[in-house]
Amino acid sequence: MHHDSQLDLDKSFLSHSPGYWSGEGITEKEWNSHKWQLRNRITSLSQLEKHLNLHEDERNGVILSGTKLSMSITPHFFNLIDRNDPNCPIRRQLIPRIDETIISPYEMSDPCGEDSHMPVPGLVHRYPDRVLFLVTDRCASYCRYCTRSRVVSGAGDQTLSTEFEAAFDYLEKHTEVRDVLLSGGDPLLLSDSKLEKFLSRLRSIEHIEFIRIGTRIPIFMPQRVTDDLCQMLQKYHPLFMSVHINHPRELTLEVKEGLERLANHGVPLGNQSVLLRGVNDDADVMKVLVHKMLMCRVRPYYLYQLDLIQGSSHLQVPVAKGLEIMESLRGHTTGYSVPQYVIDAPGGGGKVPINPDYIVQRNSERVIIRNFEGKTFEYPEPAVQPDPLLDY
Ligand SMILES: *Cc1c(COP(=O)(O)O)cnc(C)c1O
Repeated sequence: MHHDSQLDLDKSFLSHSPGYWSGEGITEKEWNSHKWQLRNRITSLSQLEKHLNLHEDERNGVILSGTKLSMSITPHFFNLIDRNDPNCPIRRQLIPRIDETIISPYEMSDPCGEDSHMPVPGLVHRYPDRVLFLVTDRCASYCRYCTRSRVVSGAGDQTLSTEFEAAFDYLEKHTEVRDVLLSGGDPLLLSDSKLEKFLSRLRSIEHIEFIRIGTRIPIFMPQRVTDDLCQMLQKYHPLFMSVHINHPRELTLEVKEGLERLANHGVPLGNQSVLLRGVNDDADVMKVLVHKMLMCRVRPYYLYQLDLIQGSSHLQVPVAKGLEIMESLRGHTTGYSVPQYVIDAPGGGGKVPINPDYIVQRNSERVIIRNFEGKTFEYPEPAVQPDPLLDY
């Protein structure tokens, strides 16, 4: 499905300054400004057709996207599209397809059952000690397979109406919440000062130990990762960031520099990829991707099976393929580069780890295991002796 020479190219950290926009009189200063990047996003069919020959399925998809999930692509990210490759992995993630109107019976508008786990609008409390706080309904660009497309971008029929004061009240009262994950939409779309108000308010709550920001902006628009932003974030440690990278080509030189800037300010970086057909459903692509992440000081965290969001069938990958990819990583390469493959259980069960089976057989006396090479080994369960220094 991929050409080896293209994959070789995707292994390097290429710089992607103006590209498609060269010849349009864009200055370096404009290009490097995230405000310019936001103002000049590709949002219409005519802008898109100026640069790309669209397939009929894409053109029809763009026309229909206005009533479902808006199309929006930052110039930085648009530059990564290979205009001669109709199956370009960047294109598949961001350009709508008519297939999005095909709704399978098992697909849902809220596949993770979030709306039924909101004690306060905009605050999802599904796990005992942590919450998901939806702070905005907008992103810099829209992933076509968005799990929250029912409320994100403003095009669909539901709206996100986070009740901020009620949410902070809830967090103050619920002393069991020690971990808050800011998401949306993309929290880095907020200004530094707005974001700082959230972070300082969270830090004023004593039982909140750990803060995370879930964002794709360092990938869609690395210009947003300024020194000012990093200096502000480092006042609120321990603060982690989860980014979203699906294909090695997304790790450009500019993205790498932004990620390094965050890491230099003490922000540990994790990545959440989504397994997508024609994007990263390939062991070689995935290996290059996770290796490049480590070079950017990003630890692969989760590999998600694509949620059963309405209109996603053209991007779905069988679980068997996901397991095969996981097997191709574990043991064959650096343990730090191996994410946990998960399915977010349909209907609101939360994330469930999905692993290839390495236990061949197990009883109270022994475990038969197999290693990454397929060789089997026996681990005899040691007989537990009473320990006079322990109570058991
Ligand atoms: C993913 C998720 C979290 C965070 O889960 P971790 O496994 O700690 O990364 C928290 N709340 C909700 C609702 C989530 O979907």
